[in-house]
Formats: sequence, structure tokens, C-alpha cells
Amino acid sequence: MTRVIKVTALPGDGIGPEVVPIAIAVLRTALAQDGAALEVREALVGGCAIDQAGGPLPEETLAACRAADAALLGAVGGPQWEDRPMDQRPEKGLLGLRSNLELFANLRPALLFPPLAQASSLKPELVSGLDILIVRELTGGIYFGEPRGIFFEDNERVGVNTYKYAEHEIERIARVAFDLAAKRQGRLCSVDKANVLEATDLWREVVSGLADEYPQVALSHMYVDNAGMQLVRAPKQFDVMVTGNMFGDILSDVAAMLTGSLGMLPSASLAADGFGLYEPVHGSAPDIAGQDAANPLATVLSAAMMCRYSLGLPAAAARIEGAVDGVLRRGLRTADILGGGGQDGVEQIGTKAMGEALLAEIESGA
Ligand code: NAD
Repeated sequence: MTRVIKVTALPGDGIGPEVVPIAIAVLRTALAQDGAALEVREALVGGCAIDQAGGPLPEETLAACRAADAALLGAVGGPQWEDRPMDQRPEKGLLGLRSNLELFANLRPALLFPPLAQASSLKPELVSGLDILIVRELTGGIYFGEPRGIFFEDNERVGVNTYKYAEHEIERIARVAFDLAAKRQGRLCSVDKANVLEATDLWREVVSGLADEYPQVALSHMYVDNAGMQLVRAPKQFDVMVTGNMFGDILSDVAAMLTGSLGMLPSASLAADGFGLYEPVHGSAPDIAGQDAANPLATVLSAAMMCRYSLGLPAAAARIEGAVDGVLRRGLRTADILGGGGQDGVEQIGTKAMGEALLAEIESGA
């Protein structure tokens, strides 16, 4: 019997509606080669939801996600919604999805496709073949801890946030990271600031306590300041890194830029039941929206992550990643990954042409 995979598509705003249909078409083709059918339901989130449904995260959208195997999001936001009150901004839609669907594990790979080694700000030999996965805790830590706010104390204002993790929160994100490391190169680096912050002392203790259960994984620990430095000094020393919400926010952006372009970076946010929200790291790029100039590859690579982490179809994931590598090797580039220009055999193309090239690449490999 044909397996039917249900995906909720959330194109969102700006370039989202340009890149999501391409990723869906690529996903459909890759899945068909595994004999699986794709059923797509489109839903509103972000600015378009504010305009059409009165709020950034309609109940229907949440229901559509809950009924699906996974969701693929483009991006939310844009200048036309920036003056609205905080709880009526497009970004609230994204935060609402993360909290309502309990997406506690954020996976951000930093993978450098060899044809783009020149695009990195680091020397090509430092980054060529780079393949890091950062696992960031997404629903706890200082971004959510209470008390928080600006208070009066001794006749002046003080700003307060609370860095707080319960043992079960540390354990569940650490297990995700151990499992992923076991399927990759078997190395896990846990990042903390245990020399200063008690909360991360507990983090280190809980992560260390799990190591015996994963004998195939070599666990190491690193302070966050050193981790930032090591990422730009010798990034290939890392395989999987696991860390809390705030450190992960910062380190994943650093690692991401090692690969050169925002237009190439996918991400996944996973719940305990295997549901995942997959999205490019970039935003809605209002400056280029509607111009057929957006790079769809980050969204396409997010669809590949969906195959691997929510659908259990690693062959389809590899097929999509292979198609991305193939079009890059053929010299096809959207403007953002063109590099300095003047490279032989490199051709600038638009969003749609990139989509067509990807489909041709997948079909030719069938
Ligand atoms: P951005 O990521 O949208 O754009 C930054 C720069 O990168 C722009 O010059 C843009 O043209 C370029 N860029 C981004 N994605 C690209 C792609 N796929 N192809 C080619 N070029 C690309 O960040 P920003 O300008 O700071 O934010 C714009 C809007 O997006 C804001 O409303 C912001 O709140 C929102 N945003 C949303 C998300 C999200 O939905 N996850 C993330 C970041 C920003």
C-alpha cells in the first residue's frame, strides 16, 4: 500500500511563498521515488495570517500541524507589520508554533557544499567538508525563565532574567543529541559555562550522567566562550554540539555563517513524538520578495531534514541533498551565492529556474 505522508505547508510572508512551493515539489518528487505519496495542506502563519485571519497563528493552523506528520515553513515578517503591538506581530506566530507544538529540540546543521567553499569568510581549507550539527534547547533556559522583567530596587531599575533548567529538560535534549551523534561521527560536545553558572553546572552533571548509556559516543565538554573561539579557529573538530537556548542561539549563527550564505541554511525543530517544523534559517527577505531572486536551497534542504528526522526516509533526504550538490556542481547559482563573480562555468539563475534544475536533477537520478 502506498504510504501517504501529510505535510502542512506554511509559506508565510515575503519570499516564503516563492521558496516553499519549490521545496514541496522537490519533496514530492523525491518521495515518489520511494513509492510514497505527499498530501499537502496549506495554512496561514505570520503577517499573512494577521491580514487574512486576524492574528498571527490561527487555531486552524495549529490544528493542521497537529494532524500532519511534519510542517514546512517559509518565513514570517515584514515592514508592514512592524508597528503592531508585540503580541500581534508575525513573529508571535512562529513562537506560538514552537511552544504549542512543544518543539524543544532545534537542529541546525552547518554543512558546506564543496562548490561553495569560496563563499565562506574563512579559508577554504578550514571549512571544506565542514559538517557540524548544533542541537539547541528551544523551549527553556533564560529566554523563558521566571522571574523576568524590569523592576525597581534601591531607587533604580534593574533588569532581570532567570537562567533555569530542570533535570528532565536537560536530559531530553541531551538524549536527542546523543542519538544524533551515534548516527553520525560519534562525537558530542556539550557546551556550558559551568565555571560560572550553577544552572550549567547541573547541565554538565546531567549530560555526563547519560554518557554510559551511549558507549558509541565520545562526550566532551567545552565552555561557551571557548566554543565560540574554536568554531572560527578549527570548526571541523566538531561533529554534534548540544547546548541551551541562549548559547545555542548565538553559536548556531556563528556556525551557520561558516558556510557562507543565509540562503543555504536549513533547520528543524522537533517535538518528542517525532513531529517537526522545518524551516530555512533566513527571514522573509522583503528586499528581494517577488523578484524571483530568492535562493530556495535552504528551504529545500529543510525538506531533506524532514525526510531524515520526521519521516524516517534517509534515502529521500540523500536524494534531495544530492540534487542540491548536483546543481551547485553544474555552476548554477542564485545571486546570494554567486561569490565574487568571474568564476568559470558559474551561471546566475532565478528562484524558479533553480527549482526546475533541482527537479531535473532528482528525476535524472531516478
Ligand atoms: P532576512 O533573513 O530576511 O534577510 C537578510 C538578508 O539576507 C537580506 O538582504 C535578504 O535579501 C537576504 N536573504 C535572506 N534569505 C535569502 C534567500 N533565501 N535568498 C537570497 N537572499 C536572502 O533577515 P532580515 O532582513 O533581518 O528580516 C526580514 C524580515 O524577516 C523581518 O520581518 C524579520 O523579523 C523576519 N525574520 C523572520 C525569520 C523567520 O521567519 N524564521 C527569521 C529572521 C527574520
